[in-house]
Amino acid sequence: MNMQKDCKQVWEKCLEFIRDNISDKKLFDTWFKPLEPLKLENDALTLRVPSMFFYEFIEANYIDILSAAIRKELGHNAQLLYSIAVDKGANSPAGNSVLPSNNITATQNFAQNIPVNLDAQAKDLPNPFVIPGIRKVQVSSQLNENYSFDNFVEGKCNQLARSAGYAVAQNPGKTSFNPLFIHGSVGLGKTHLLHAIGLETKKRFPEKTVLYVSAEQFFQQFVDSTKNNTRNDFLRFYQMMIDVLIIDDIQFFANKTGTQEVFFQIFNSLHAANKQLIITSDKSPADLSGLEQRVISRLKWGLSADLQMPDAQTRIQIIERKLFKDGITMPKDVIEYLAYNINSSVRELEGALISLIARSSIAKQEITLDLAKDMIDKFVKSNTKEISIEYIQKVVCDYFKIPVETMLSKTRKGEIVAARHISMFLSRKHTQSSLATIGNKCGNKDHATVLHACRSVQNSCETDKEFRMNLEAIEKRITE
Ligand code: ADP
Ligand code: MG
Repeated sequence: MNMQKDCKQVWEKCLEFIRDNISDKKLFDTWFKPLEPLKLENDALTLRVPSMFFYEFIEANYIDILSAAIRKELGHNAQLLYSIAVDKGANSPAGNSVLPSNNITATQNFAQNIPVNLDAQAKDLPNPFVIPGIRKVQVSSQLNENYSFDNFVEGKCNQLARSAGYAVAQNPGKTSFNPLFIHGSVGLGKTHLLHAIGLETKKRFPEKTVLYVSAEQFFQQFVDSTKNNTRNDFLRFYQMMIDVLIIDDIQFFANKTGTQEVFFQIFNSLHAANKQLIITSDKSPADLSGLEQRVISRLKWGLSADLQMPDAQTRIQIIERKLFKDGITMPKDVIEYLAYNINSSVRELEGALISLIARSSIAKQEITLDLAKDMIDKFVKSNTKEISIEYIQKVVCDYFKIPVETMLSKTRKGEIVAARHISMFLSRKHTQSSLATIGNKCGNKDHATVLHACRSVQNSCETDKEFRMNLEAIEKRITE
């Protein structure tokens, strides 16, 4: 009866349900967003999961909510199958392994069926990433082709990290950027950049073994190796087989002393052998807590580069690049509206963009500024939308039909000064920013200038009716 149902739509509904029932949005983004609906046949939904580890984690932690969502959509005969993505690299065997959910279907324990039996040769060196069923031991790089340098927009916010990453890919292990340590808060492109570096390295040096692993996966493998008495294999795998080791989100090692110990050993032997290490974290080495001093000192050996939130112009480029890639067009004012209003992270920005596209296609409505505004109100509500100084400046300048750069310049022309004062006044009223920050972003003025501007606007409001009407009109545009 569900044959006609579209698996993407069903999955969207499931996601909605899950999103509503999961308290931590970050967890939702981490564990559910990467799942991809592949097919729906006779009430059996197949989801693609990025890795074996992912599959195990979901089954262990989120199966209740997942099965509730699927049953809600497909009824009580619903089944869930997982398709585990394998490396799409040229040398790997095609296809995925499909596994039934352990918990939602009536199938018995199928753990033994998981096709990870290695052949005789591979058995000497068991490792969690070997692609099953092939003779030569090959390590699946775990890289995502979508996260390439081509798709990574360069800006002031990421210049150092990006160029160092690119240099490392041209010359792994041979630059002074070893390790390359990239830090920045969530959703700013760390993982994307890591994959880009890995992919570029593979392109330049197909014979090198590159491995991307999240700190969480690494930890899990270490725990398993201890449990299974294969710790030496684990160590040997990392110490001997890898040319470029990429570890994502190393803050996860905090307070895990055993994991830090093996990481330390692996780091030392790879580094001594001129193998490249690339590591990310949500904090700078100095701010990483829960990590041993000797580990932190290793992280500081090479280059540490941070990622910042892109400025509005870069955000516009990121949106445009993404739209271009997906073959979608969108009015410029909508793109600007999104870019100016979403300044928490690139991930949020992409999320908003995807929601907007989804809404317009579901409602068969064109993408307009009104639709965008309506969506953003709903989308950003939960993330405490804050109007940015940049957005205020943009609205003010649009209103007076002057370029933002002119307003930020040193010009003393009357109407430009008025626009500048109004921008400062509204920034003070509608953002949490300090006077110093407002001045800084408004043409490098000091806090006294901002204070003076605010007083002057206040004065004009009381004495000049036309001025007041203009101000109210602008304020309405900003807050509506
Ligand atoms: P992090 O690992 O820092 O939490 P991600 O690498 O997962 O962040 O990035 C979140 C999303 O934002 C990804 O979809 C990524 O492709 C996108 N993104 C981040 N920075 C850029 C950029 N400079 N250009 C294009 N896309 C970006
Ligand atoms: Mg990440």
